[in-house]
Amino acid sequence: MPSDHHVEVVETDSHTLVTIPCLSDNYAYLLRDNTSGNVALVDVPEAGPIKAELDRRGWNLNQIWLTHHHYDHIDGLPKLLKTHAAPVYGARADAARLPDLDVSLSEGDTFALGGLEVQVFDVSGHTIGHLAFFVPGAKAAFTADSLMALGCGRLFEGTPALMHASLEKMRDWPDDTLVCSGHEYTVSNAKFALSVDPDNADLKQRAKDISTARAENRFTVPSLMSLERATNPFLRSNDPALRAAIGMADATDAEVFAEVRKRKDSF
Ligand code: ZN
Ligand code: FE
Repeated sequence: MPSDHHVEVVETDSHTLVTIPCLSDNYAYLLRDNTSGNVALVDVPEAGPIKAELDRRGWNLNQIWLTHHHYDHIDGLPKLLKTHAAPVYGARADAARLPDLDVSLSEGDTFALGGLEVQVFDVSGHTIGHLAFFVPGAKAAFTADSLMALGCGRLFEGTPALMHASLEKMRDWPDDTLVCSGHEYTVSNAKFALSVDPDNADLKQRAKDISTARAENRFTVPSLMSLERATNPFLRSNDPALRAAIGMADATDAEVFAEVRKRKDSF
């Protein structure tokens, strides 16, 4: 393990959330229900850093949740299962491309991690069958490459309309929800966001905070839902100032989203 390896932790009486950097810019997450001691892992970019963190904390692994089929979210699974066997949860709709699932999930399903309820959302767009996991009792949502910190995932498989509908499902989560997304992309996301929403004071402040955090090697993920609503251009299709800035005052929200996503693709 490199000497600069670090994780970031949110700990309350009820739960512990550990953010683990993997590969070059991915994040995996451990969520522990502190009442039962049950632990879930969200995504497995690589086994090494996740094993190290579980072993360092002396935690067993009870559930593995997969958000989508891309290699940088599942590649470490076979190796991890050899030492930390646990049932694997993922999208029924994408079972053919995911590793073998023990629990197949669809939109609207719920399940439990100890005393915590987990709500399943189909947030297709980046891929078809991409899931998000919302855990109200932990004030955390695991969104991987759907809703991302100050961005959203590239549309490899879905249409802009589909991704817009997926983001609409997430936009009403409470302000204090921590959005646990899949990558450290906020430096480039901030440059783009300012290009379509240049007069947004909250966004300008967030861009400064991101620069400071990265200069100090701190993570900018997870992020608060309140901050995403105030600054993430992909959640702001209905904002008059953003619409005016891109010359789409009279378009529908979905059309504005499609245009912003298109601009990001060639930014
Ligand atoms: Zn992906
Ligand atoms: Fe990814």
